[in-house]
Amino acid sequence: EPRPHWLFGDQLGPHFLDPRHGGPDAQAPVIMIEARSVLRRRRFHRAKAHLVLSAMRHRAAELGDRVTYIRAETYADGLRQALRQIPRRSAARDADAGSARKGGRVGGPVTVCHPTSRAALHFVSALDGVEILPAKGFLVSREDFGEWAGRDSEQSLRLEGFYRWARRRCDLLMDGEEPAGGRWNLDGDNREPPPRGRDTLEVRGPWQPREDAIDAEVRRDLDCWERDGQMSFVGRDGPRRFPATRREALRALRRFVSDRLPDFGRYEDAMLAADPVMSHSLLSSSLNLGLLDPAECVERAEHSYRSGDAPLNSVEGFVRQIAGWREYVWHLYWHFGEDYRHRNALRHDAALPDWFLELDADAVTANCLSTVLAQVRDTGWTHHIPRLMVLGSRALQDGWDPAAVTDWFHRCFVDGYDWVMLPNVVGMSQYADGGLMTTKPYTSGGAYINRMSDLCGPCAYRPTDRTGDHACPYTAGYWAFLHQHRARLAANHRTAQAVHGLDRLKDLSELLDQVAERGDSAP
Ligand code: FAD
Repeated sequence: EPRPHWLFGDQLGPHFLDPRHGGPDAQAPVIMIEARSVLRRRRFHRAKAHLVLSAMRHRAAELGDRVTYIRAETYADGLRQALRQIPRRSAARDADAGSARKGGRVGGPVTVCHPTSRAALHFVSALDGVEILPAKGFLVSREDFGEWAGRDSEQSLRLEGFYRWARRRCDLLMDGEEPAGGRWNLDGDNREPPPRGRDTLEVRGPWQPREDAIDAEVRRDLDCWERDGQMSFVGRDGPRRFPATRREALRALRRFVSDRLPDFGRYEDAMLAADPVMSHSLLSSSLNLGLLDPAECVERAEHSYRSGDAPLNSVEGFVRQIAGWREYVWHLYWHFGEDYRHRNALRHDAALPDWFLELDADAVTANCLSTVLAQVRDTGWTHHIPRLMVLGSRALQDGWDPAAVTDWFHRCFVDGYDWVMLPNVVGMSQYADGGLMTTKPYTSGGAYINRMSDLCGPCAYRPTDRTGDHACPYTAGYWAFLHQHRARLAANHRTAQAVHGLDRLKDLSELLDQVAERGDSAP
C-alpha cells in the first residue's frame, strides 16, 4: 500500500514523484502544506512570495485528487491535518493519525525527499515514522560529492577541481576523456564588456508568463495578509515574470536555448542599465523550485553545441554555471556544516542601512547601485555580476554583518533559499569564511564597473575620483577596505599587489575621513 508522500514547495517537478532512483511509491497520495509561519518569519520580496505560492497552487491543481493541500499555520499543524484527511487504509496509519488527532506527536508512515534546508531536514528527521528519500534536483549525489571531497585530504575544495570532476562523472561536454574543444575553461572568452553604443544586447527577450486565476487568488491573499498586519513584504509584486509551472519552465528553457544561449558566454559578466537580463537564462527560480531538472538544462545546451547552433564558449559557460557552480554551492552548504552561517572572518558587524533594507533606490545617488537596487525592488532578480560586484561589494566595503547580508539576499531574491544563499553570500560575496570558498575577496573600485557596464556614464560620481565631491563610493570604498584589512590581504598572494598600491596613495587619510563621514547614509 503506497505511503503518502510530502512535497515541499521547492520540489514541484515531476522528477520528485518519480518512483525510480529511490523516489516515492508510485501512485502515493501527495501532501502539500502551505505554512503561513514561513512567510511571516521573514520580510520577503512580494514577487517571491507570489511566485512560490503560485507555483505550489499550480502544482496542486495539476495533481488534482491525488493531493491533499493544506493551508496551515505551521508545518506540524499542516501534517496533522493532512494525515487526518487522507483516507486511512492501513492499521498502522490509523494508529498514528489517532495519536496526531489527540495533538500528540506528529508523523506517520510518510515519505519525503531530502529537504533543501538544514531547518527542514531537522524538522522532518524529528518526526515519527517519516522516511527521508534521497535528494532530487541535483546532478551529483551527496555520497558522490563526499567521495570527491574526501579523495585527498590535502585537496582544496575549489570550484575548478569539482567542476572538471563533475563533467567527467556526468559525461558532460566530453570527447572521450578530454573536454569538448580541448579546454575545460573558456572563462577568458566570457568577460567582454557590453557592446559600446548599444543600450541592449539586441537578442530575443526571455519568455514571459501570462498570469491566470491562480495568480489573481495569490495576489488577493497577499493583499489581505498585508492589510490585516499578518505579514509584511518588500519590493513590488508586478506581473509575474518567472515560471510557476513545469510547462512554463520548459517554454522558458526552450526559448533560452534556441534564441539566447548563443550570446550567453561573451557578455556573461557585462551590465547594461536598460537591459538587466541581457543573455542570462532567468532559470534559477525554476531550477530552485524544482520545476526543471539541471540534467535536462545542461543536456539541451550540449545538444545545441553538438548541432552547431551555439558556440562552445556559451555552452561551456552555461554548463559551468549549472554543473559547476550550482552543484558546488549545494554540496558546500552541507559540507561546511551548521556553523558556516555564523562565520565572520573579517569581523564585520555594521547593521544594514534602512535605504538598503527598504530597497530605496531613489535615495541612492551612485547610478550603478541605484539602478541595481531598483531592479531588485521591481523584479526580485539581478544577474550574478550586479549581485557580486554592486550589491555584495557595497556590503563588503561598508563592513555590514554577513549574516544580515545573507538574510537580505535570501528575502529579496526570487531564487533565494538557505542552501544557495549561504555559500554565495557568506563565502563568495562577503569572504566571511576567510577563504574556504574563494581565494580572495570579490570587490573592486569603480574602474571595473565602468569597464563592464554603461552605468558610470550618467553617474554624478567619477570612477577615477577617490576623494572630493565626485568621489566614486566604490573606488573610495575599495581603498578603505584594503586599508582596513591590510595585514590579512598583504599575506594573500592574490591581493598583496593591491595592498602595495595603498602606499602610493597620497590622499589616503583624506579618503578615509570622507568614507567615515558618509557612514551609513546612501552613497
Ligand atoms: P544564469 O547566469 O543564466 O546561469 C544559469 C544558472 O546557473 C542559474 O540559473 C543558476 O541555477 C546557476 N548558477 C550560476 N551561478 C550559481 C551560483 N553561484 N550558485 C547557484 N547557482 C548558480 N543563485 C541562486 O539560484 N539563488 C540565490 O539565492 C543566489 N544568490 C546569489 C548571491 C550572490 C551574492 C551571488 C554573487 C550569486 C548568487 N546566485 C544565486 C548565483 C547567480 O547570481 C544566480 O543563480 C543567477 O544570477 C540567476 O540568474 P540566471 O538564472 O539568469 O542565471
